[in-house]
Amino acid sequence: MTGTPNDPEFERSNCLLCGGSSPIAVGEHGQFNLPTHVVVCERCGFSYLDPRWSKERYAAFYVHQYDTLYRPEIAAQDDLRTRYAPVKQIIERLKERQLLREPERVLDLGSGMGHALIYLRENQWPNCRYEAIEPSSECIKHLRSNGIELVASDVYSNWEESREGRYDLIIMRHVLEHFHDPLLVLRKVRQVLAKDGLLYLAVPDAMHPTKPLHGHFFRGVHISYFTKYSLRSMCEAAGLAIESIHEGDQHARNEVFTFCRPGLVRDLVPDSSLAKVQLQVYRRMGRPDPLLATRRALARMARKLGVIQ
Ligand SMILES: [Zn+2]
Repeated sequence: MTGTPNDPEFERSNCLLCGGSSPIAVGEHGQFNLPTHVVVCERCGFSYLDPRWSKERYAAFYVHQYDTLYRPEIAAQDDLRTRYAPVKQIIERLKERQLLREPERVLDLGSGMGHALIYLRENQWPNCRYEAIEPSSECIKHLRSNGIELVASDVYSNWEESREGRYDLIIMRHVLEHFHDPLLVLRKVRQVLAKDGLLYLAVPDAMHPTKPLHGHFFRGVHISYFTKYSLRSMCEAAGLAIESIHEGDQHARNEVFTFCRPGLVRDLVPDSSLAKVQLQVYRRMGRPDPLLATRRALARMARKLGVIQ
C-alpha cells in the first residue's frame, strides 16, 4: 500500500480541475496513516490525490475498512443530540440568506442514513418529496424503511437522464471531495436542478485546514481538497452559477460552502499564483505543533485513566 507506480491498487490522476499534469507533492500519508498522496497542481493550484486508489480499491475499503475507522463518527450520527446538527446548520444558513423556501422535490446526494431528509420531512416541509443517492447498503436499508426514495446507489450510473430539471433543492454536504470525478458529478447535478432550483454544497476548506494537517485533514477517502477558488471554478465549469460562497461562518469555521443556481458553463482560466498560496498554507499548517501534540497526549492519557470519555 505504498503507491509506487507498479502497485496495482493505485492509479495516476491528472488535475481534477484543469486536467494539468504538473503535480507538486505535499505528503504521502494521511489520517490513520493510510497512503494519501496529496499534490498541488502547479497550473491551477488545486490539490488532489495522485496517485490514488482505483475505484475498485476504494469500493473494497468502504465495504471492509471504512466503518471500523470511522465508527465513532457514524455512532455520533446516531446520537440523538448530534444526529440533526448538520441539517439544522443548513436550515440556519438558508434562513440567514432568505433562501428558505418550500421545495417540491429535494435530493440529498450522499445522504448517508438520510437524517437530513427525515428531519426536513418531520420538521420543515411535510408535503415535499424526498429522494437520495447513497452507495452504502446499510444506509439504503435505513432510507427505504423511512420512506425515502433511492434514486441510485452509483453516482456514475445514468440516473440524471430521466430526471432533467426535477429538483428544487439539492444537498451535497461533505461528499464532493470523495469522488473520482467531481466535475462529472456536478454536471449531472446541473442537469437535474430545476430552472430556479438551489444547490447547497459544503466541503472541507483547504485554505483553512484543521490540524494536524497530515494526521487529520489529509485522508485517503478525500480525493479532492477544495478552496473557495477551486470550488467556484468547478461549479462554473459545470454550468452552476454561484449565488454566494463562504469560507466558514459561526456554524463551522473549516468548511467552504456555496449556494448555486443553474447558469452558463464558464471555462476555467487557470491561475498559477494559487499553487504558491496553497503550498504556503500547507507548509505553515504542516509544521509540528508541540502544544497540540501535548494536549492530545494528555487527552489520550485521561481517556485511558477513565477521567474523560
Ligand atoms: Zn490544475
